[in-house]
Amino acid sequence: MDVEEFRVRGKEMVDYICTYMNTLRTRRVVPSVEPGYLRTALPAEAPHHPEPWDDVMNDVEQKIMPGVTHWQHPRFHAYFPAGNGYPSILGDMLSAGIGCIGFSWAASTACTELEIIMLDWMGKAIGLPPAFLALEEGSKGGGVIQGSASECVLVSMLAARANGIKRLKHQFPNVDEGLLLSKLIAYCSKEAHSCVEKAAMICFVKLRILQPDDNGSLRGETLKEAMEEDEEAGRVPFFVATTLGTTSCCSFDNLPEIGPVVRKFPCVWLHVDAAYAGSSFLCPEHKYHLAGVEYADSFNTNPNKLMLASFDCSLLWVTNRYLLTSALVVDPLYLQHCYDHTAIDYRHWGISLSRRFRSLKLWFMLRSYGVSGLQKYVRKHCELAKYFERLVKKDDRFQVCNQVKLGLVCFRLVGGPDETPEQIDEMNKKLLTNINASGKLHMVPASVRERFVIRFCVVAQHATREDIEVAWDIISDFATELLEGPDKERDLNEERTRRNRAALAHKRSFFVRMVSDPKIYNPAINKTPPPVATSPGSPPAAAPSTPDTPSDSGSIQQPTTPKQSSWISWPLGFFFQSVDHDSNDLPLRFRHLDTMVRLKSPGASRRGSTPCASPEHRASSPSNNH
Ligand code: PLP
Repeated sequence: MDVEEFRVRGKEMVDYICTYMNTLRTRRVVPSVEPGYLRTALPAEAPHHPEPWDDVMNDVEQKIMPGVTHWQHPRFHAYFPAGNGYPSILGDMLSAGIGCIGFSWAASTACTELEIIMLDWMGKAIGLPPAFLALEEGSKGGGVIQGSASECVLVSMLAARANGIKRLKHQFPNVDEGLLLSKLIAYCSKEAHSCVEKAAMICFVKLRILQPDDNGSLRGETLKEAMEEDEEAGRVPFFVATTLGTTSCCSFDNLPEIGPVVRKFPCVWLHVDAAYAGSSFLCPEHKYHLAGVEYADSFNTNPNKLMLASFDCSLLWVTNRYLLTSALVVDPLYLQHCYDHTAIDYRHWGISLSRRFRSLKLWFMLRSYGVSGLQKYVRKHCELAKYFERLVKKDDRFQVCNQVKLGLVCFRLVGGPDETPEQIDEMNKKLLTNINASGKLHMVPASVRERFVIRFCVVAQHATREDIEVAWDIISDFATELLEGPDKERDLNEERTRRNRAALAHKRSFFVRMVSDPKIYNPAINKTPPPVATSPGSPPAAAPSTPDTPSDSGSIQQPTTPKQSSWISWPLGFFFQSVDHDSNDLPLRFRHLDTMVRLKSPGASRRGSTPCASPEHRASSPSNNH
């Protein structure tokens, strides 16, 4: 394809996208295909000879589109929104066209400098404290665009891990880093996104998963008890991941309680994951959720969720960029340049070296919509969710199961007085399966207070009240069909087809299940600590939750089996399934070492008498490691 053909085909592509957007309503929301459908439709080998562009685009429509889940469809209500504002698509187009790789200031100056400025613009717009901004006088902070929220969490944990090991090495200079690493422990709520657990696996550290209160909020007291227990048992707290706007039910961890707890422990890094909710803080009325963010060391949000930016656009801010870059810096000669002492080189801020010009789309979005335009969009999104909530509440067959603060409503069928919680879960699963199988509407489930709920998220950019009403009518009709039994007149063939479809959708509904409860998606790596710590070094007892705020969300019947309060996921735990539950017993061959060098130095006070980088005492690192 030469430049003149590109000129023509590029315009055709924009036309194709516009038509796609305008005719989305005529398509099924989710595909009706079996796994491997595309393998039978495409040749087994790449073509040896060039093919005409028209043939390629024909195959897009004939072969690809039937397998696409249409995230921009007005009946798509799963997950969280996937932004695709037009200025953002144009930004990505230009980024691809310029085709620069901005790993350092020298490799593409505008790419680096626009990113620094955009992160400051965004940080100010959502209300982050000045310590997170790169261009504030005297600030050591700054922001970076990562590929995903998962990467933001991972690099924050990597920085915290390096910081934790550095501190321990100072305290125990003769102890091997591997052993020091085995003592580190991170924390998050059960409602945290699974990416926290994945980060812990990659960092090879233990993660203690804590029970939130009845509103899905991790409380300070729960965290404090767990951290103290762990310290008592010789483990070393180093990282706390909190969430503002959880994936399952959009709950908010209690940062004003958690922040002061974290500050009491030396060198513990506090991260705030606001992947979805962060963009709502553009609106003054949602900024109260940020209370306590001044305690945080890092903060991430995805404008590609609620701010209409297209994937990928995950923003990460830190208050001390030197702690981040000193954990990630490698500096071969061929990447050095004469300004690397004064400029920011984003290659030290993440995993990959190469990076796209992603700040263009953020710039285009902020300029085309203005902050006021984006606020308007967020407000509409939240108002439509409230409208859906009212529709659910009007129907006494249903209950709303979360506090609806932004665009997510969790709901379920209440069930009858004679039905067990398990039967009610089954009924709700069936309802969701039937709806998804119909292709008329798409939602995914979550687990809220151990019960199966259906998540309804407002997603489409131009959604209206009418769209919400159509969605509700579909849900309500399926509920009626389910509750009033199958049509007795239906012939056998029809029933068989329905069952086949339901089986496929059932599989699919498990496939797309949200990952709010680690027990659900990876039971192999979760273990319950024994209830009582019997000897020094044995794992902590379960920490009680502190539901001292009355729940104003829907009352879901509690499970009959005792609730698990907290559990520890440890790296590669699944390799040791046959070994008993005590995580300290796992590396049996190291146990004698462990006894020799228990990392509870009797004289060391909890307040961090060591030269560590606690928020109050952080030493600045060499200035050439931006
Ligand atoms: N954190 C939260 C709160 C999320 O809701 C999600 C995804 O929905 C993630 C992290 C993971 O985001 P990403 O896909 O950008 O890694």
